[in-house]
Amino acid sequence: MNKANENLRRIPSIDQLMEWLERSNPIESEDHSISYKIRVELLRQAVDCVRQHLKTQDGGDRAVADVDSIRDLIKDSYQRKMQELFRVKLKKAINATGVVLHTNLGRAPLSQRARECVNEIMQGYCTLEYDLKQGQRGERYSHVEDRLCKLTGAEAALAVNNNAAAVLLTLSGLAQGREVIVSRGELVEIGGTFRIPDVIRQSGAKLIEVGTTNKTHLADYVAAISDNTAAILKVHPSNFQMSGFTAHPPEEELCRLASEKGLISINDLGSGTLLPTGKGKAAEPTAQECLQAGFDLVTFSGDKLLGAGQAGLIVGKKRWVDILKKAPLLRAVRIDKLSLAALEGTLIDYMTGLAEERIPLWRLMSQSEDELKAKAEKLAQECDNVRKAGWEVRVVETASLSGGGALPGTELPSFGVEILPRGAKLNNLGRELRLLETPIICMTREEALIFDVRCLGDDDISTIGEQLAEISQRCRQ
Ligand SMILES: *Cc1c(COP(=O)(O)O)cnc(C)c1O
Repeated sequence: MNKANENLRRIPSIDQLMEWLERSNPIESEDHSISYKIRVELLRQAVDCVRQHLKTQDGGDRAVADVDSIRDLIKDSYQRKMQELFRVKLKKAINATGVVLHTNLGRAPLSQRARECVNEIMQGYCTLEYDLKQGQRGERYSHVEDRLCKLTGAEAALAVNNNAAAVLLTLSGLAQGREVIVSRGELVEIGGTFRIPDVIRQSGAKLIEVGTTNKTHLADYVAAISDNTAAILKVHPSNFQMSGFTAHPPEEELCRLASEKGLISINDLGSGTLLPTGKGKAAEPTAQECLQAGFDLVTFSGDKLLGAGQAGLIVGKKRWVDILKKAPLLRAVRIDKLSLAALEGTLIDYMTGLAEERIPLWRLMSQSEDELKAKAEKLAQECDNVRKAGWEVRVVETASLSGGGALPGTELPSFGVEILPRGAKLNNLGRELRLLETPIICMTREEALIFDVRCLGDDDISTIGEQLAEISQRCRQ
């Protein structure tokens, strides 16, 4: 028999191990109340880990381990798994990618007012669906409807779980069993699982494609209208840009056509900003502009360029919003109280007219090159100790993106710090930074790590400096 097999045979049974563990282990009170079932499950996993370890070259070739050392290995693994149970996994992270609306990092950071609103609601009961004047059941949408109307010029508004839900609800509530016309240039995929043709199918509506990838004319829409057409849907090409030989009818004309033919015009704006973002083609259309162009309904996200938490907003004609408020699907996609609180706080920030200062997203987007350069120089300075370890540190120009399906093709000139970790493996270093108590997420470019400073606060800059110093010192030893 080889050594590995002999080692494996020495692993005591689960019952024996459990008895020994409980006897030998000064159990911490928190651990103690974990159910026996879960403890056994953890122990099984621990034994599996040790078994794997013993099977590998490393563990197997070693002199036959005695039962005691095998038991100790299992105990270590078991205790680590036990600690793992209590470790929070969803945690704050430092975003050194420069992508302001990073979907994987939680999209928009909340404003102070939004955070206060969430905090307040978290404490206990709230007026989520309670009409204080009448002393009876109210609507959860009522808290934000009026503000959304004032800010966008819409007649009515509805907030749901996210924009994917807003589009699904709108189509299923208003076009189920009927046809929806979409340009072939707008049959887009927005990350992973949101693809317009699939969402339309899911809603129970029938997709009628018109035009070509690059050009769609008003006449194409006209020709596609039938007795069974319910709506014309326009979709914002959130994450790509088309240039060259392209054409789409002006929005006003599309909306006029829909209105003449008794169809609903819907615009899935995606990011949907309330503030202007720039000039010309690079600018995002604002929700107000879309409504002014004549769209009956406009849908957009709460956590993209609006800068609130996850939500989907539907704004537009009261006649249609009222139908959606009664749609059975609404219950399945309704917004929760914490997101609603964040949304309300953020909308109040817009009401003040000081959104650009108060909503972090807009501050991050509007930093001047001088400000960004100064931040990068500060970070480079904080990395003095990293230089001592022989690593190269320099300030570099970067180009950051807005992300979150907003401003496709528009790069925001930014600054960052480039680190060339001499003698350390780039992948390991990136991993080490990600596995910190507060993870630091940066970019890699060829042989360097790049820390874009756009989304970093002062504290983040010090933390990155300290962590890099520590890691580089360790690598030197
Ligand atoms: C982002 C986006 C969505 C999905 O919005 P979520 O809020 O992420 O659900 C839908 N449509 C467009 C055009 C988008 O850009």
